Amino acid sequence: MSETLFTKIINREIPADIIYEDDLSLAFNDINPQAPVHFLVIPKKTIATVNDIAEADRELVGHLYLVAAKLAKSMGFSEDGFRTVMNCNEHGGQTVFHIHLHVLAGKPMGWPPYSEKLKV
Ligand code: 5GP
Repeated sequence: MSETLFTKIINREIPADIIYEDDLSLAFNDINPQAPVHFLVIPKKTIATVNDIAEADRELVGHLYLVAAKLAKSMGFSEDGFRTVMNCNEHGGQTVFHIHLHVLAGKPMGWPPYSEKLKV
């Protein structure tokens, strides 16, 4: 698997505001936040898209959610609530091909994400 932008963050080749790390995952603030709190939880293993998640990755992907919930609790927004999103490919709006769980919090989120205005 080729190196991605997020591999470079994992390897400290480019800087990021890292808020959590363990053997399997890393969490860091998004460079272009879309909410008062917006960070990404990523696996250290490179998996390009949700389509590439294998049976063997079940625990790893579950781990990303456990980290999100742990950070939500420690950062104090678990009870107010938050949004988790993992975008996939073009229609999902994915731009970095190393799966990442967006965690957005700090204000009520809008729904649905699809807008007729975007229809082509
Ligand atoms: P996607 O569009 O693939 O779901 O999300 C990619 C996210 O990565 C975007 O929210 C974008 O702002 C964030 N991002 C892109 N490049 C960097 C970077 O160099 N550092 C950080 N911290 N976030 C980045």
